[in-house]
Amino acid sequence: MGDVARRPRSGTGETVRVEHWTNAREQAILAAHNLLDPETAEPYAGVPYVWSDQFGERLQLAGTAHAPDIHFLSGGSGEGSYLALRGDGEKVVGAVGFGCDRRRFNQARRLVTAHTSWDEAVGRDG
Ligand SMILES: Cc1cc2nc3c(=O)[nH]c(=O)nc-3n(C[C@H](O)[C@H](O)[C@H](O)COP(=O)(O)OP(=O)(O)OC[C@H]3O[C@@H](n4cnc5c(N)ncnc54)[C@H](O)[C@@H]3O)c2cc1C
Repeated sequence: MGDVARRPRSGTGETVRVEHWTNAREQAILAAHNLLDPETAEPYAGVPYVWSDQFGERLQLAGTAHAPDIHFLSGGSGEGSYLALRGDGEKVVGAVGFGCDRRRFNQARRLVTAHTSWDEAVGRDG
């Protein structure tokens, strides 16, 4: 678990290592649960999430930033702060925020974890 563990990348057959604190923490919690209660053991399927404080602002990423579609919920590229959704043509696959409201980022993160359809998410924003 943690930095040394490879996990399946959702939607593809490949595996990937995710080197972030949240990944290490969530995998450790699940590994302990699986050891203590093997009958309810389950594979790790968390959506990657990372935060880092840079120059006094918080950078946050849930899912992936590498996707063809982008929709800014606030701010924009070149602005001091922003919150953007990334989409793969069908669904929301990522949320990226810098210096944005944390509650709004958590709402966007839930769109990623729920695999919300792109049209629904962007339409909801107006
Ligand atoms: C400079 C830096 C900045 C980072 N910033 C961020 C950030 O902003 N946000 C974020 O999410 N992540 C960040 N990370 C990544 C994050 O630190 C790691 O993803 C996380 O610590 C992984 O946890 P882990 O338990 O898997 O491994 P580790 O934290 O590396 O813990 C492994 C432990 O095992 C010990 N160990 C190794 N070999 C042995 C051995 N043979 N016997 C006994 N013990 C051993 C090591 O000493 C270490 O204590 C950063 C990493 C670095 C290096």
